[in-house]
Amino acid sequence: MKQTQISIVIPLLNEEGNIKVLYESLLPVVEKISADYEIVFVDDGSKDSSFDIITKISQLNKRVLGISLSRNFGHQIALSAGLEHASGEAVVMLDADMQHPPEIIVDLYNKYKEGFDIVNTIRTETADVGIFKKITSYYFYKLINRLSDIHIEPAAADFRLMNRKTVNAFLQMKEKDRFTRGLVSWMGFKQAQIEYIAPQRFAGKSKYSLLKMFRFAADGITAFSAKPLRVSFFAGIIVSFTGLLYAIYAIFQYFGGKNIPGWTSILVSILIIGGIQLISIGIIGEYLARVFNEAKNRPMYLVKEYTTSEEISTHV
Ligand code: UDP
Ligand code: MG
Repeated sequence: MKQTQISIVIPLLNEEGNIKVLYESLLPVVEKISADYEIVFVDDGSKDSSFDIITKISQLNKRVLGISLSRNFGHQIALSAGLEHASGEAVVMLDADMQHPPEIIVDLYNKYKEGFDIVNTIRTETADVGIFKKITSYYFYKLINRLSDIHIEPAAADFRLMNRKTVNAFLQMKEKDRFTRGLVSWMGFKQAQIEYIAPQRFAGKSKYSLLKMFRFAADGITAFSAKPLRVSFFAGIIVSFTGLLYAIYAIFQYFGGKNIPGWTSILVSILIIGGIQLISIGIIGEYLARVFNEAKNRPMYLVKEYTTSEEISTHV
């Protein structure tokens, strides 16, 4: 059996307007690197004609494999599904919307040839990103870097090259709520970074809704830090201490005979304490939900079909 030199893994959701352009610009780049390449498209439950397009491409080019997941499992899981099916010595992952320019793969590969195990990318500029996404993303990375032991570059993207050794290591991590860039940072090994400018999405709209972005952020934080769980403890101490001071004041007032009906102060303290309690329970809930998700131990994803009738095996 011939060894695959380089695999390209592309997770996608409803990207019918991008697949052909991506494939056509990707092909000359990878063919130049090695004739022993493979392209793995992971269709993450698209409702449009994405998988038909992938099937057609795979009929023309036997080096293209399409995997259709049984439903939408999310970008991070689709990415891992692709990694599990990739057989290359070097594996590159990139988005399907042309925001990760295929030409950069040459730079990634050159770094890998220099001896790096993982080559990450950092976008120096992203065209067409709204101010809201910029601000939320900035503060999210500040928060995660402060809360957790790992470091994540604020402009990191899921556009990177990993060698066989590190792909296998990555796939040993079976957690369901996956935050790939955190896991990669946690892994260590010899990592390098290269910069690129992210152009606008070629066609279609971003598949990260506000809700998905918040889930993604919550996964990132809960997977790498238990500190939010402890916040409630400190908040509790501060609130109780203030409460104690107020109690002393109230007792003095009582003995001083100035027993004012304290409606406002009671209402304020109930609201504050109630709010802190609800937030704390919510934080515990976030962690508990993840423990629950892991405890069920369901498979990370299910495959509906492949573009080939040959038997497919995963490479881990
Ligand atoms: N994607 C996916 N499943 C999802 C959401 C997104 O496979 O549930 C894919 C999407 O098709 C694209 C990549 O993940 O190839 C990044 O998504 P997108 O470009 O929408 O994110 P953005 O660049 O806006 O952050
Ligand atoms: Mg994009």
